[in-house]
Amino acid sequence: MLTFEKLYSMGHEEVVFFSDESSGLKAIVAIHDTTLGPALGGTRMWPYASIDEAVEDVLRLSRGMTYKAAVSGLNLGGGKAVIIGDPKTDKSEALFRAYGRYIESLNGRYISAEDVNITVDDIDHIYTETNFVCGVAKAHGGSGNPAPYTALGVFRGMQASAMKTWGSKSVKDKVIAIQGVGHVGFELGKLINEDGGKMIFTDVREDNIAQFKEAFPSAEFVAPDAIYDVDMDIYAPCALGATVNDDTIGRLKCKVVSGAANNQLKEDRHGQELKDRGILYAPDYLINAGGLMNVSIEFEGWNDSKSRRMIDTIYDTTLHIFAIADEQNIPVNKAADVLAEERLESMRKIQTTYLGRGSDHRFPGSKARHNKL
Ligand code: NAD
Repeated sequence: MLTFEKLYSMGHEEVVFFSDESSGLKAIVAIHDTTLGPALGGTRMWPYASIDEAVEDVLRLSRGMTYKAAVSGLNLGGGKAVIIGDPKTDKSEALFRAYGRYIESLNGRYISAEDVNITVDDIDHIYTETNFVCGVAKAHGGSGNPAPYTALGVFRGMQASAMKTWGSKSVKDKVIAIQGVGHVGFELGKLINEDGGKMIFTDVREDNIAQFKEAFPSAEFVAPDAIYDVDMDIYAPCALGATVNDDTIGRLKCKVVSGAANNQLKEDRHGQELKDRGILYAPDYLINAGGLMNVSIEFEGWNDSKSRRMIDTIYDTTLHIFAIADEQNIPVNKAADVLAEERLESMRKIQTTYLGRGSDHRFPGSKARHNKL
């Protein structure tokens, strides 16, 4: 059950329930922390079994967004939203437009985007009612599909890991095992292939397997559970979370874990275990932030080169986090948290001294976007 004690312990500022009976909308928006700016995070649609389950998810995901934005150097806070429903049967224009009107009522404290089971078409319905949404179609002045940008960030994190491990940022002749060749995994394949890396891959969807084989004939396919046991230099999880766990960790023969999936470590202690086994872990929530960086510049006018320059910074930030991990003798996942918390803490001090809490957190760029319309 949602209690104030729970919100205090996780640090949330605001949780809003939206319901619209006529369209069947049941949505929860969680704004975790707006110290750095308005809370930006995707909306997920999922047939949660209970409200408690939906609340758990939205609290956890929104907190993660605060850390992701902070470590990525973005002037954004952390937020997330969930719509309770079956994406196959419960979607309608009316539902997303009702949702858009509710987001508008938050006056820019929360900015939405795509997440699991939400498409660009759904975003476009939301955009009809509010400007506080990004990931809008390119045809409507947005940034479109985020996957190539997410993949670029993951590749920069992989290059930083290669530099730290082998003294060169190239992955030429390295064997990279990709788990999941969907939107991001496929784009990552392109970048690895261009750099001369060798790929072993797995997936559970026949169409995605066929597409990958056709694009990269030299890549070797293995069955889903075999991916943990192959001879590899880099393990790139791009499908599910929690794949670094008690069952898999002893099987990984790699020197680096670097992929797109969220929450790759099943538990925090698996970060320490990777360290003890001499496996370098590229922090997931930093290196998969390319998609977030990409949508964040929609408000000031999106363009491809601006987005790529921003995402390139993931290389240096990853190396910086490795340095913190070495200096403090802590696992990399903890070092990423240290960097995020340091930034949040320093900004909280400035706000206390100069701005005070409760200042207008509207994203400055959003006004520009309003003016354009
Ligand atoms: P996607 O659904 O397009 O691709 C995931 C792929 O993994 C699919 O091809 C699916 O069949 C495959 N898969 C599922 N279960 C599997 C299993 N047990 N073994 C092997 N393959 C399996 O998703 P995506 O957009 O490419 O995202 C991939 C991961 O990256 C997700 O964890 C997502 O949360 C994360 N991520 C994505 C983005 C983005 O911009 N799309 C941004 C940040 C993080």
